Amino acid sequence: MNLDAVRGLDRLPAYVYDLPGLKGHVATIRGALGRTELFYAAKANPDAEILRTIAPHVDGIEVSSGGELTHVRETLPGVRLAFGGPGKTDEELALAAGVDRVHVESPRELDRLRSPADVLLRANLPFHAPDAALTMSGPFGMDEDALDACAARMADLPHLALRGVHAHLASGLDASAMLDLAHRIAEWALPWLKDHGVDDPELNFGGGMAVDYTSPGTRFDWPAYGAGLAGIPARLRVEPGRSMTAYHGWYVTDVLDVKTTRGETYVILRGGTHHLRTPVTKGHDQPFTVLTADGPESPATLVGQLCTPKDVFARDVPVPPLGPGDVIAFAMAGAYAWNISHHDFLMHPEPAFHYLR
Ligand SMILES: *Cc1c(COP(=O)(O)O)cnc(C)c1O
Repeated sequence: MNLDAVRGLDRLPAYVYDLPGLKGHVATIRGALGRTELFYAAKANPDAEILRTIAPHVDGIEVSSGGELTHVRETLPGVRLAFGGPGKTDEELALAAGVDRVHVESPRELDRLRSPADVLLRANLPFHAPDAALTMSGPFGMDEDALDACAARMADLPHLALRGVHAHLASGLDASAMLDLAHRIAEWALPWLKDHGVDDPELNFGGGMAVDYTSPGTRFDWPAYGAGLAGIPARLRVEPGRSMTAYHGWYVTDVLDVKTTRGETYVILRGGTHHLRTPVTKGHDQPFTVLTADGPESPATLVGQLCTPKDVFARDVPVPPLGPGDVIAFAMAGAYAWNISHHDFLMHPEPAFHYLR
C-alpha cells in the first residue's frame, strides 16, 4: 500500500483492493497446482470486482448458500460452481440444476436433492490435525455409516451421479500438514469409492490453507502443495478462500483522537470493527502501516468508534506519535473482513470501496 493510492480517496474509512496484485497472486497459485483444480470459496469475499478479477485464473467458484450461488451466477454468468454448505433448504437445493458439483452433507439432504446432479459426499473423517486453527468437526459432513447409507441410496436415485468425496477437515494448516491430511483422506476415500463403483474418483480437499497474520509477507507453500498432491491417483480439487484474497485488501482510516487513560494510550480511529471484524474473531492484532507519521515509537491500542471494549484492531502495539488526521492502513483485510462484519451496529457510515486497477 503506498500513499498515492490513499491520496486518491476522498472519504475514509475505505476498503482498498489491489486487483492487479490479486490477479498475480491467484495466477501463481493456479500455476503451482498443476492438474489439481482450483475453485475459490466465495464466502471469504464475494465482492463482484474480486470475483471478476479471480475468475479467469480459477476453474470455478465454491458457494455455500443459495444467496452466494445467485450472486456468483449473476456476477460471472456461465462459471462452474461447486455448491456446499450444511442445512441447505429445498429452495436452495432447487438452484442446484446446472451446478458442476453438489456437496451433499447428509442422507436426508441427498433424498431432497431433486434436480439432476453430480455429487460429492462430504466426509467428516476422524483424522487429527494438531496444528489447525480451526477443526471442522461438528455438523459438517458425515461419518462412515452415513456415507455408506448415501452410497446405498444412490442406486435408487438415477438423477444423481456419485463422483467422489469432499473433505474439508481443518483450516490454518501449512503445506506439509495439508498434504499429510490429503494423503490420509485419499487412503480412506479411494478404496471406499472403488467399493461403491466409482471408476473415475474425485477428491475435494476443501480450503483452509494457512494465512499468518503476524507475518503479512509469508505465503502458503503452493509449489510444495501442488507437487505433493501430484501423486494421488484421482481427480483433485481444492477450494481455498482466505489464502487467495486476504493479502490484497486494506482497510484505510484516519485518527480522530488520541488519549491516555489509566496509563493506557488509545488511538481512536474513524470506523471500527463493525467494518473489519477479523481481529476480533481471530483474536489477533491486525497488521497495519502508519502512512502519514514517523518518529520514535511507543505502545498504544488502536480502537474504533464503537461503544464496546471489544472494538480493538490491535492492542499495545508500537506506533509513532499520532494525531487527528493521521492515516493508518490495516493490511490483510481482503478476506473474512467486510463481509463478516456487523455493519449496522451503531449506525456509523459505511466505508468507501476503492479498486486499484
Ligand atoms: C470456508 C470453507 C472453505 C474456504 O476456507 P478458507 O479457510 O477460507 O480457505 C472451503 N470449503 C469449505 C467447505 C468451507 O467451509
